[in-house]
Amino acid sequence: KTQQFFRPTKAIIDLQAIQQNVKNLKEFLRPNVQIIAVVKANAYGHGDVAVARAALEAGATVLAVATPDEALHIRAHFEEPDILILGASPVSFAPYAAQQRIILTAFADDWVQQAASLLVDEARPLRLHIKIDSGMGRIGIRSVQELLELYQTIQSTENVELDGIFTHFATADEEDTLHFDQQVQFFEKCLAVIPNKPRLVHASNTAASLVKDPHLQYDAVRYGISMYGLSPSPYVKSILPFPLLPAFSLESELVHVKQIKAGDSVGYGATYVAPSDMWVGTIPIGYADGMIRKLGGQEVLIDGQRMPIVGRICMDQCMVALPKAYDIGEKVTLIGQQGNNGITIDEWATKLETINYEIPCIITTRVPRIYF
Ligand code: PLP
Repeated sequence: KTQQFFRPTKAIIDLQAIQQNVKNLKEFLRPNVQIIAVVKANAYGHGDVAVARAALEAGATVLAVATPDEALHIRAHFEEPDILILGASPVSFAPYAAQQRIILTAFADDWVQQAASLLVDEARPLRLHIKIDSGMGRIGIRSVQELLELYQTIQSTENVELDGIFTHFATADEEDTLHFDQQVQFFEKCLAVIPNKPRLVHASNTAASLVKDPHLQYDAVRYGISMYGLSPSPYVKSILPFPLLPAFSLESELVHVKQIKAGDSVGYGATYVAPSDMWVGTIPIGYADGMIRKLGGQEVLIDGQRMPIVGRICMDQCMVALPKAYDIGEKVTLIGQQGNNGITIDEWATKLETINYEIPCIITTRVPRIYF
């Protein structure tokens, strides 16, 4: 059943855009390279189940998440597809992972031994992907010796199975390739020393998939940010191999409109003072929705035109300067298109001095995700 939402503030998620972004990547990749759809963090704030379904339909074959709880949430909705947890899982999760056919990341020898000691059912081995820390400095093994020990442990331990090996690039989205090349070199050295290559070798995130040497696609690529129609960085944006379709819009409506007099103030702290008689609208979105106070002054689209937020953003509401009286219920687009005008996630990211990845993630769960 569809839930009914009364507040007009909504995130509109364009699943067709997500599917097109997956299909375009599929066409661009070498033949037989699989797409691992990265749907961690509630699919970067877009909604994990809906995005996972769209990505699988468009050709992705594996779903990647960050945590055990995210994996279980996905598994509850999808029986079949492989699910990979990219982060460190607590060893206590190992039996659940085996039972639910969730693939875990093996990043240390003692972690594997402890995890394996908790397994019982030989019919359902725990599948593992070894993580190589080739220069991200997060999790993973950092030397060939460590790798061989870990590999031996997995091979000689009952109930565990080596299914993959991977690394993650720290600078794939940058023009300078020095650090990137060092990471590739170490990863390839690791691949060369393991006796039997597992089923899935993967290294590339979006940026590496789109702009680096195609041989780095290996057996699969991990597609995150550009599945959502966003570029990993300005550099990658300038050399994209195919256009990206943004999937996330943020919309609301005017709930109150009034004229205030010159000298009247708006909002907490009375920081905004009307320079002349003016119209002001109230929008039911605030910092508890992820429209954080630092976005004060940001423009929104009403009637196809840009209009600025005035005064401090409140927890649940904010105010906008209007050129004239608009009706209650007039549509407000905070992120997205109105006619020829658009406000992008990248614009918010620039205003907030952060990266586009962060923007849909910080739109809180109070904002319903509506799909079309
Ligand atoms: N692989 C790993 C290990 C990640 O942590 C992430 C996300 O940060 C990705 C792939 C996806 O990266 P991107 O969104 O840049 O494609």
